[in-house]
Amino acid sequence: MPLLSLFPTRIEVAQLKKRGLESFNRDIIDVCESLRMADTTGQRWSAKHYTGGYTSYGSHDQMHRISSTFAALEKALNPQVKAYALSLGYDLRGRKLHMTDCWVNMMAGAVTHGLHLHPLSFISGTYYVQVPRGAAAIKFEDPRLDRLMAAPPKRNDLSPRERLHFSVKPKAGQVVLFESWLRHEVPPSFTVQERISVSFNYAWTA
Ligand code: FE
Repeated sequence: MPLLSLFPTRIEVAQLKKRGLESFNRDIIDVCESLRMADTTGQRWSAKHYTGGYTSYGSHDQMHRISSTFAALEKALNPQVKAYALSLGYDLRGRKLHMTDCWVNMMAGAVTHGLHLHPLSFISGTYYVQVPRGAAAIKFEDPRLDRLMAAPPKRNDLSPRERLHFSVKPKAGQVVLFESWLRHEVPPSFTVQERISVSFNYAWTA
C-alpha cells in the first residue's frame, strides 16, 4: 500500500477584488483612524490586551453593521468565504454563511498577537489593508502539534507542507482564510508604519 497523505489543512490567500483596492483601502484606513480616536472603550481594552496597538475586538466587533465601508468589505468577502467553504467539501445546500464578527487591528512595530484560535466560529480570516515592508507574517500551527506528546523534534530541512508551522506573508489587498480551529499568531514586526488589518468570523445557519 502506498504511503497515504491525509487530512489536509487548507489556508487560502487571495486578492479581495480586481479593481479599486487602493481607494477602498484608503477608505478603510480613514474609518480605522477615526474609530481609534473616538473609541475610548477600545483604547482601554487595547492597553490591557493589545499592548502598544489598537484593536476594536473589545469594543466594536461588528464593524460591518456600523460602517458602510465595512459592509462593502463584507459584501466582497461573502462569495470568497462561500467558495472557500465549498472547496473544503462542506455541504452548504440549504445552509447560509454569515459574518458574525468583524474588527479592526492596528499594530505598530513591536505589537504581537499571541497564539489563539477563534472559538464558536466556522471560517475565520483577515483582510490586509496596510502592510509595511518587513511587517510580520501570520504564523499558523500544525493542528496536531498538541498531540505530538512523545515525538522527537522534526528535521529542519522539511518541505513547508511537512513543517509544524507555516507563515503567510500577505500583501495589502489580500485576504487570508482558514478554518476557525486553526491556531495562529502574529509575531512582532519592528516596522515604523502600522500594519492595519480587519479580522472576521463566519458562522452558518440552516
Ligand atoms: Fe486570529
